[in-house]
Amino acid sequence: MVPADTRDTDRLYDCIIVGAGPGGLQAGIHLGRYNFNILLFHTPGGRTHHARHIENYLGINAISGGQLIETGLEQVQRFGVRVEKAKVERVAGQEGAFDVTAGGKTYKARYVIASSGARETIAPYKNLARFFGTSYFTCLICDGYRTTGKKLVVIDRSVNGVRTSMGMKQLFTKDVTFIAQGIKLNPHYAQLLADEGIPLIEGKPEELVGEKTLEGVRLSDGRIIPCEVILGWGGISMNDEYLEGLPLERDADGFKVVTSGVCESSLPGLFVLGALRQGHSQAIISAGQGAEAAIEISTRIVEI
Ligand SMILES: Cc1cc2nc3c(=O)[nH]c(=O)nc-3n(C[C@H](O)[C@H](O)[C@H](O)COP(=O)(O)OP(=O)(O)OC[C@H]3O[C@@H](n4cnc5c(N)ncnc54)[C@H](O)[C@@H]3O)c2cc1C
Repeated sequence: MVPADTRDTDRLYDCIIVGAGPGGLQAGIHLGRYNFNILLFHTPGGRTHHARHIENYLGINAISGGQLIETGLEQVQRFGVRVEKAKVERVAGQEGAFDVTAGGKTYKARYVIASSGARETIAPYKNLARFFGTSYFTCLICDGYRTTGKKLVVIDRSVNGVRTSMGMKQLFTKDVTFIAQGIKLNPHYAQLLADEGIPLIEGKPEELVGEKTLEGVRLSDGRIIPCEVILGWGGISMNDEYLEGLPLERDADGFKVVTSGVCESSLPGLFVLGALRQGHSQAIISAGQGAEAAIEISTRIVEI
């Protein structure tokens, strides 16, 4: 039992969770329901927060990411998790004795769960905000279904767009056009698209056209490519600056963290979930990983 007058930074938390996405929140629910001392830090936003319609989460017909997070924050606090709005700046230490710096103070914890996700680079097209999440999408797994039977434009700055265009045609809509943004496509790939009946346009998109509904994409040379929906991609970066300097095994690209089946990284006691971890990224996957990590941590705390 921690004496009431113990200073916040002297207390040894059982676990500190970084991030209030589905991963961190699900971990918080499980750990809170073991009556452990848990502290969860989060900053506003996160990828889930930007999702307008989540329709592939078991038990929920449709929910916005914002609603899912708000409900999760209420839920963790109901089970005694302390929630603080602050950016985690650094994690150091090892299993049983981690130091977590956030908002200029350093807190102690036996375990740390890094569930801070990733951030997307949003393409700089005029009017993008007007259509983001309703007719401009960035994730095939999340929103490909919403393009079913519609006139689709895929925009990409790499040959990945060729594969995406072909996949979209197989899965969702016969009417696909590929805009190769600012690149000259190798003739081999151009031929693949031609064989699939996917028009190829090389150019630089500048503006999404339409008032209430999307009507097309205007290119820098003035051409307007008509469409009802767009699948675009600006790139992604990990929210993992606070893990810098830790001996973490990464994937072959040096990008995502490699973990065990219970989401433990190569630094014992540090669990890494969701978009930060090698593997597919979806809200329900992060939530499952949060539960997995929490149960593993609870087992170890009880054994200590
Ligand atoms: C537009 C859009 C639509 C999507 N639609 C779907 C969908 O329909 N279905 C689906 O399953 N998935 C969807 N996703 C993907 C889904 O959001 C991610 O796979 C999921 O968010 C990963 O959850 P997470 O808990 O790992 O991270 P996130 O949801 O990104 O949460 C990370 C949390 O960490 C916080 N954070 C970041 N850095 C720090 C720091 N240094 N200190 C403290 N806190 C920090 C963030 O603010 C946030 O609270 C969508 C994503 C986007 C962008």
